[in-house]
Order: sequence, then structure tokens, then C-alpha cells
Amino acid sequence: MGRTTQQKLAIAAVLEDAESPLTPPEILARASKAVPRLGVATVYRALRSLRKEKKIVIVEIPGEPPRYETADRGHHHHFFCHGCRRVFEVPECSAKLAELAPPRFEVLDHEIILYGNCPDCRPA
Ligand SMILES: [Zn+2]
Ligand SMILES: [Zn+2]
Repeated sequence: MGRTTQQKLAIAAVLEDAESPLTPPEILARASKAVPRLGVATVYRALRSLRKEKKIVIVEIPGEPPRYETADRGHHHHFFCHGCRRVFEVPECSAKLAELAPPRFEVLDHEIILYGNCPDCRPA
């Protein structure tokens, strides 16, 4: 197995194991444990390639750097903590959201980001 393949597999594995979407520096830090001498340019290259293969998707939160997660997680949302600026996965959704649209409008999709404090950052 070539080094490029090995690097890409390590980066894919980091995203598989991740509990929430990660930024490229976070991916680099975790993948470096499996593949020494990994650089951020390599991480970006692997992410581009994995996106093209539709194995990962980008998670965009306004004003935040892009994060990445695996594409197979199903419908879910995200919670952004103002305290630690971490992003958490929110598995729940509500079918009632489609009812927010005016009469005769057909809702096909939605995007929701919850903002607030995670349990670690919540004032006691
Ligand atoms: Zn927090
Ligand atoms: Zn939803």
C-alpha cells in the first residue's frame, strides 16, 4: 500500500470514528497518531478526494471554518457551543418543521443549527 493511500485511509478512519464534525487541524492532530509526518496540505488533498468520492460532506456554520463528517450519518443537525466553539451532532429532528411553511408551499429540505452552551460550558 502506497503512502498516499495509507494517509488517506487514516484520515477517513479519523472521520469514521469522530463523534462530531472536525476541522482540518483537528483531523491532522488525530490522524498524525496513525501516520507520522502528516502535513496539513496532505489532509486537504485527502479531504478533497474523499468529498469527490462522496464519502464525506462539508459542515458549514456561518463564521466558522469548514468542518467535515462522513456522508453516511443520515439526517441530523448540529449544535454549536459558543463557549468552546465545538460542534456536536444532534440526531433528533421534528416532522413538524414542514408545517412552518405557508399554505401550499412544499418543503423539500431544511437546515438547522442550534446555538448555545454545551454541558461543559453552561454556567452553573
Ligand atoms: Zn462548550
Ligand atoms: Zn431535520
